[in-house]
Amino acid sequence: MRIACLGMMHETNTFQSVPTTYEEFENFELLRGEEITAQHSTANSTMAGFFEGAGRFEFDLVPLVHAFTGPTGTVTKDAFDRIVGEMIDGLRNSGPFDGILLGQHGAAVSEEYPDMDGEIARRVRDAVGPDTPVVMCLDLHSNITRVMIDNVDATVVYRTNPHLDPKPRAVEASEILVKTIRGEAKPVQWIEQLPMVINISKQPTELEPMKSVMDDVRTVIERPGILSASCGQGYPYADVIEMGVSFVVVADGDVDAARDAAEWLASRTWANRALFGNDTPTPSEALTAAINAPVGEGPTVVMDMGDNVGGGGSADSTHLLLEAQKQGASELLMSLFDPEAVQRCVTAGPGVEITLKVGGKTDDMHGDPIEVTGHVRAITDGKYEEPTPTHGGIRFFDYGPTVALDISPTNGLGEGNTLLLHTKRGVGNMSRQQMYSAGIFPERYRVVIAKGVVSPRAAYEPIAREIILADTPGVASADLDSFNFTQRRKSLYPFEEDAKYTPGEITR
Ligand SMILES: [Zn+2]
Repeated sequence: MRIACLGMMHETNTFQSVPTTYEEFENFELLRGEEITAQHSTANSTMAGFFEGAGRFEFDLVPLVHAFTGPTGTVTKDAFDRIVGEMIDGLRNSGPFDGILLGQHGAAVSEEYPDMDGEIARRVRDAVGPDTPVVMCLDLHSNITRVMIDNVDATVVYRTNPHLDPKPRAVEASEILVKTIRGEAKPVQWIEQLPMVINISKQPTELEPMKSVMDDVRTVIERPGILSASCGQGYPYADVIEMGVSFVVVADGDVDAARDAAEWLASRTWANRALFGNDTPTPSEALTAAINAPVGEGPTVVMDMGDNVGGGGSADSTHLLLEAQKQGASELLMSLFDPEAVQRCVTAGPGVEITLKVGGKTDDMHGDPIEVTGHVRAITDGKYEEPTPTHGGIRFFDYGPTVALDISPTNGLGEGNTLLLHTKRGVGNMSRQQMYSAGIFPERYRVVIAKGVVSPRAAYEPIAREIILADTPGVASADLDSFNFTQRRKSLYPFEEDAKYTPGEITR
């Protein structure tokens, strides 16, 4: 049994001004064939699960192309044409295949295709024909569309946020595919889209109200004849018509069973829709609470939601650093993307006192550059390895040349503050190895600012005395009213309080 795996994963923040180019994928991850095996077979990613599935269910896995980058702006037509072109060429030239495993994100937008994942699914189907089964894995933050569902035989979505389960979900997808090829299962799917947005602050799956949603999903999976069930939480920062929450159920041959289950899931979440809104503390409130927290119980971790790098943030927001100056914070640790500042620090060298402006250089949404004075503690290549499963299952990280800068108590700041300055935007603060590899121990700080909402939790929950959200301005702000949506559908709760849900209705 010969099965191809491939994918072009992107979470597109259409409010982010930096476009996602071919070069951006190349810089981050654009792998072919054996390169995919080397990078993923021992990781905890979707692709890793396909390798695991190949071992467990005894098929030959042919890795073709895998592209991935952090969530930046709209994918350029050039990047889409070249990468998807290579994926489809691979399917046509390296076949025939008994089945296809497609690892997508589900919230990608390109210049040409607002439903980029749907267009990829359509082209994959077109390349392999109607009789070759295709099973697709998606991120929990997918805006799942009719076109995606119509072009694949089954869909399996991550079920945890932070995403600790891409690998087991991809194994699940592999099993469904193998059973389908052997004629042991006939997957049919139903998608139920809800006209509502789950605020980013309410998306962690271990906490209510999402916990109950995922408990419902697990209940459905236990029903007889159900092969898989999923919730697409939706990604609110992709301004597209099908942005929002959806449920997909895969049943064995019985579309009514899939439909009943998907409608049950959707109606239960809809009934609780008032629980999924934004009630996040302001940056000032969040930092005050962190600074005044009891000492000796580990750091208070403040989530910089507006600069959620895993959600398209610029990674250089200074809103909380400014607040730290105003409140005289001490023993605070945060990272900033700033190639210019890194260059200045590298030129100055270790131990030399240097005054420079850091952060706030990408756009006008993430604060202004802030002047600090400090000593370079360490200079590294910004590469590190994270062997345990963290968000998304990445093992090998590369933030480019990186500097640990210890800040002197000037410009309002107190003692013992440290900045980690890096030269690739990266994916946020998803692993403590990011700090350890630069000689920084986050456990020793009173306040750690993490650029994310959920993705840093697996890294920082084990050492944090408390995690506090901060509703900072920025491209991933929790305050959805701060964005000028032009493409989203109407009506959509909570933008339109009187939005109505009609079971079985699909967005067009
Ligand atoms: Zn996600």
